[in-house]
Amino acid sequence: MKRNHITFFENLIGKQNVFTDNDVLEKYSHDETENISILPSIVLKPCTTLDVSGIMKYCFTNNLCVTPRGAGTGLSGGAIPILNGIVLSLENMNAIILIDEKNLQVTTQPGVITEVLQNAVKEKGLFYPPDPSSRGTCFIGGNVAENSGGPRAVKYGVVKDYVLNLEIVLPNGDVMWTGSNVLKNVTGYNITQLIVGSEGTLAIITQIVLKLIPAPKHDLVLMAPFKSVHKAAEAVSAIFRAGFIPSALELMEIDAIKITQEFVPNSIIPVHDDILAHLIVEVDGNDLEKLFLDMEKISEVLESFDATEVLFAETAQQKDELWKFRRRVAEIVKNNGYTIEEDTVVPRYYLPQLIEAMKFLGQKHGFKVVCYGHAGDGNLHIRINHPTIKNSYQNPIMETILTELFEEVQRLGGTISGEHGIGLIQKKYLPIVFNDTQIQLHKAIKNVFDPTHILNPNKIF
Ligand SMILES: Cc1cc2nc3c(=O)[nH]c(=O)nc-3n(C[C@H](O)[C@H](O)[C@H](O)COP(=O)(O)OP(=O)(O)OC[C@H]3O[C@@H](n4cnc5c(N)ncnc54)[C@H](O)[C@@H]3O)c2cc1C
Repeated sequence: MKRNHITFFENLIGKQNVFTDNDVLEKYSHDETENISILPSIVLKPCTTLDVSGIMKYCFTNNLCVTPRGAGTGLSGGAIPILNGIVLSLENMNAIILIDEKNLQVTTQPGVITEVLQNAVKEKGLFYPPDPSSRGTCFIGGNVAENSGGPRAVKYGVVKDYVLNLEIVLPNGDVMWTGSNVLKNVTGYNITQLIVGSEGTLAIITQIVLKLIPAPKHDLVLMAPFKSVHKAAEAVSAIFRAGFIPSALELMEIDAIKITQEFVPNSIIPVHDDILAHLIVEVDGNDLEKLFLDMEKISEVLESFDATEVLFAETAQQKDELWKFRRRVAEIVKNNGYTIEEDTVVPRYYLPQLIEAMKFLGQKHGFKVVCYGHAGDGNLHIRINHPTIKNSYQNPIMETILTELFEEVQRLGGTISGEHGIGLIQKKYLPIVFNDTQIQLHKAIKNVFDPTHILNPNKIF
């Protein structure tokens, strides 16, 4: 980066918030996506909205590319500075500004860790449900930019269902609020929801107003082993048809469990030779007796699909350990050779067909595959362990495999990403699920917000 640009940024946000050292650049060259790494030219860590606005005004005038970054836990390459541009990290903007107990809302800066925000509102008896498995490290701003989900989405919805209003900085440096701090709003277009899930391509999110709800008093968790993955997947939609909406309904294939158990031993998860998958079911609410009754009936449904036994997490510690285990799966299987992750989503009744299609592709193309994830949403994370290919980005063989996968997903009425976004690595597959008119509309929206394409360029399409 030219010296005059560096000097400008140092004067604007302070030398201590401007980084050009190689070790820092390396740290900000990747997120958690596969093994992709592109060095930025500089890393900026603004502390205020005014700083962000000043940076963007300068970049707009000088045609410099900027990639916003939260905690870098993204799984679609959204925070990778693809053109070696500027990484604008929101990590210094990490204050919870106001917990409004009267209106059940929280106003926060984007760099707050999701779990920190959840715990802060919990202390006031309030509940912010969206809980990506990465919640101990990811930022709430990244969650909004990705419209993240997590295990509880099945009952409580995803981030979009909680975002009321956003302060954003546009690519030209202008600052605006997208809506109002109200529960209903049909005043103009819904710019708030356009920014949610826009993957840092339309604007930089600098403040977030979220809806909260009262915390449920009780939860119960069970785990059901199955000898057939197909049967486990079939049981998922049957639970809803029987009239229940669990607060979480997760599937884990046995290979994912076995690999994870090597690093996170968990005594309540059985791994007998004949078990191929487990479902985790959680229900929550205020009436404990009713929750026990619901769990009894859910157990009957599971048994009717040949669950071998139903195991209850008896204590708070067991529940905690079970969820900790589930949250570690992605990271551990990735580190054990399953480097490529897909985030497919289908209408939940078609989950068994999705799993079968993936197993078929594994056999056909000679790779190992393991599935786990938010089965209640029809959203499966599919992890690929290919003997030679560890990276899907710009790889023709993997492109063939993923094209076949997404074509099948589309046939089942599903789509490419349920919660991780399109970012860098999925963009070439968009034409499988979008026609030309849809892609052109997306591009036109991008042009309105970012006519010179300086904000997170070459992402999504
Ligand atoms: C182990 C593991 C488990 C995970 N589990 C889940 C899960 O259960 N559910 C789920 O949905 N995701 C999950 N993820 C994916 C990831 O954690 C989420 O996508 C998360 O929301 C990313 O947040 P982040 O702060 O790390 O964002 P980053 O990775 O830093 O950025 C993600 C995208 O958002 C943009 N961005 C970030 N901050 C801003 C901002 N303030 N303004 C504008 N754009 C911004 C970036 O440019 C980028 O495009 C998981 C990831 C890992 C590694």
